[in-house]
Amino acid sequence: MLTERLRSFPCPRCNELINTGMDRCSNCSAPIDSAEAEAAATIQDQVNRAYSDASFIRNMTVGCWVFFLIRFIPIPELCRCL
Ligand SMILES: [Zn+2]
Repeated sequence: MLTERLRSFPCPRCNELINTGMDRCSNCSAPIDSAEAEAAATIQDQVNRAYSDASFIRNMTVGCWVFFLIRFIPIPELCRCL
């Protein structure tokens, strides 16, 4: 379908990332069922989102620690305010 957005998912046989528009894996040429491909792509999207959420939370945690530790750096301007 032309309106359908191509999404990537791991090949069920070789785990190579391929997209949902293909009927065969470009790596191992395993036949790809389009319904199965869509389901796998949906799972892959969720995995990708979970990864980006996790890295966002991790970056925020690091950021909080950085700001916390900056408090203890003796900068003259900062000391006057505290
Ligand atoms: Zn494959």
